[in-house]
Amino acid sequence: MTSFTIHDAPVHTEDERAAVLSDPGFGARFSDHMALIEWTSEEGWHDRRIVGYGPFELDPAAAVFHYAQEAFEGLKAYAHADGSVWRFRAEVNADRFQRSCRRLGLPELPVEDFLASVDELVTIDRDWVPTGQEQSLYLRPFMFARSPFLAVKPSTVVTYAVIASPSGAYFGGSGVQPVDIWFTRDFTRAAPGGTGFAKCGGNYAASMVSQQEAEANGCSQVGFLDAVEHRYVEELGGMNLFVVTDDGRIITPALTDTILEGVTRTAILQLATDAGLVAEERRLALDELVEGVDRGTFTEVFACGTAAIITPVGSLKDAEGQHTVGDGEPGETTLGLRQRLTDIQYGKADDIHGWMHRI
Ligand code: PMP
Repeated sequence: MTSFTIHDAPVHTEDERAAVLSDPGFGARFSDHMALIEWTSEEGWHDRRIVGYGPFELDPAAAVFHYAQEAFEGLKAYAHADGSVWRFRAEVNADRFQRSCRRLGLPELPVEDFLASVDELVTIDRDWVPTGQEQSLYLRPFMFARSPFLAVKPSTVVTYAVIASPSGAYFGGSGVQPVDIWFTRDFTRAAPGGTGFAKCGGNYAASMVSQQEAEANGCSQVGFLDAVEHRYVEELGGMNLFVVTDDGRIITPALTDTILEGVTRTAILQLATDAGLVAEERRLALDELVEGVDRGTFTEVFACGTAAIITPVGSLKDAEGQHTVGDGEPGETTLGLRQRLTDIQYGKADDIHGWMHRI
C-alpha cells in the first residue's frame, strides 16, 4: 500500500468553501489540497504527499514550458445519497495515463499510486464533494517534465500531481442542453503515428484555434476529421461522438491511434448493448453522417466524456451548411443512456458492471 505524508494546510475558509459549493461552475475553483509524487531517473517515484493547494515553483527552463512534455487525466468523485463518495472506473483512467505517459517519454505511474493519490485527496477534501444534482468533484491528475534543460530529450525530473475542482455542468445552464458542432476542414487534431490517443496537453494546444473557429461559427464544440483523407469523423475537441440510428444501432468511430479512448465511450457501448442496441465501432464518413441526419435514418447524435457526461448534439455545421439532428431536441435514446449512466454514477441503480469504487 502506497502511503502519503499529509501536510494538512487548508487554504480556504469554511465560508469560501460554502460559496464555491453553492455554485461550483466548471473547472475554475479548487479544493484545499493537492496530491504530489516526485520522480527522478535515479530515484524513481518518491515523496508521496498531500499538501495545501498552491502554486508550483518551476525553473523557467523546465522542459514542460518548452517542449510540452506532459500528460493528464480527468475523472470524477460522486457523492451518493447516504453521504458516501465513489469513483467511476478510475483504474481505466490509470491505464490510459500510463499509455499517454509512455507515448510522451514520461515515466509510467504505477496504477496503485494513481488510485491512492486520488483516494487520499478525495478523503482529505471530502467536504469539497458537492451534493447537488449532477454535481461532482472533478479530479485532474497530471504529470509534467521539470528538468531545467533546453536540449530536446526526455526529462529526468518529473512531478505528478492531482488537483480537485467541485463541478457542475460542463456547458453551464440547467437541464440537458443540446450543443452544436462545427466540423473544421482547415485543421486536424491528430495524425497517424502521433499523439492523438494520448491525453497530452499538446493535442489540446493544437485544437484551440479550431475551437475558436467553431465559436466564431456559432458552435460550442469542434469536430475533427481524419488527417489523411479528411473524410472520416474522429472525435470532438474534448469528447467522443455517437450516432443513434432509426433501426436500433449505435455507431461510434472505431479507435485508432488518432482517437482518445474515452472512459465514458466504453461505458456507453456497454450500456447500449445492455439496452438491446447493436453497437458498431467503425469508420464513419462525415458525408454519411450528414446524409443520415438529413434523411432521418440517423435520429440522434450525442457527445460523451467525463466532464460532459452525455450531451445531445442539436446540429452539425461545416462550411457547406448546417444540419439539424432530428428536431434539434435531445432524443429518447440519448436521454435514456444518460439517465442509466448517471444513475449508476450517483448510486441510484445497481452497478452491475462493477464500475464504482467507494473511497
Ligand atoms: N476525447 C477527447 C479529446 C477528450 O479530451 C475526452 C475527455 N477526456 C474524451 C474524448 C472523453 O474521454 P472520457 O470519457 O475518458 O472523459
